[in-house]
Amino acid sequence: MTLLDYERFLKTVQTTHKIVPLHEYKMLVENGEKSIAGLRHDIDYSLTFLKGIVKVEQALGVCSTIFLPSFRSNIPQGDEWSYLKSLEEVGFEIGLHYATITEYLTSGFQRTQKEILESSLNRLRKVFNVKGCSSHGDDYAKKYGYVNYLVFKEGADSWRRREGNEDVTAIDVFGLTPNPVPIGELSLADVGLEYEAYLLPMDGYVSDCSKFDYENYVDNLLSMVGPGDNVEILIHPIRWQLSRELLHRSWIFLESDE
Ligand SMILES: [Zn+2]
Repeated sequence: MTLLDYERFLKTVQTTHKIVPLHEYKMLVENGEKSIAGLRHDIDYSLTFLKGIVKVEQALGVCSTIFLPSFRSNIPQGDEWSYLKSLEEVGFEIGLHYATITEYLTSGFQRTQKEILESSLNRLRKVFNVKGCSSHGDDYAKKYGYVNYLVFKEGADSWRRREGNEDVTAIDVFGLTPNPVPIGELSLADVGLEYEAYLLPMDGYVSDCSKFDYENYVDNLLSMVGPGDNVEILIHPIRWQLSRELLHRSWIFLESDE
């Protein structure tokens, strides 16, 4: 989709909803407010694509939450730090997009899950006030049927209730690991976090990973924003660009990550 599509999407949501970053969404929803839209961006590959998205938001007076990848130590770098800090100073929120279980599996079990999470958080916290996180859906997680938020007690509890896995305390990743990987051993508060994006209360969840035809994509997304509902909206900047030509090129780099 193009940035013009994104502008139309946001403008339409604004006619019925108050669009805010997720920490503000959490506060408003917990206070009983309705018609709140929490807007979030997961960065998987590059910050290049974020700037256009942010310009559209700023023109409409909207702030969002930008989740930076724990699994790419070169993001942010150089003047990207000060760019993001300047956004935080005007009301945007910076959080952590994490893949802790996958990072644990793929790094030779040298560090505990807590150490992996803390090192990513500490890197960002030198500059940003990080209160929230969002789980990354990578190829390992998809192939082996886990979600990275199982690292948290809150995530594991929710998953156990939903899937009927009440007594599961570890996941065995098909012989990849010497021992099953323990889940739910950390609470969000153990690493100073206030929320996990997937675990926030919501009536609806709107994601640009949804598989719709290009021609009616925005209308389909908008149809997921129910009147009066509190909704969380996930937008990947790489999927929205200046032109269809640029979009086509960037999709070459897109895997199935979410
Ligand atoms: Zn992701």
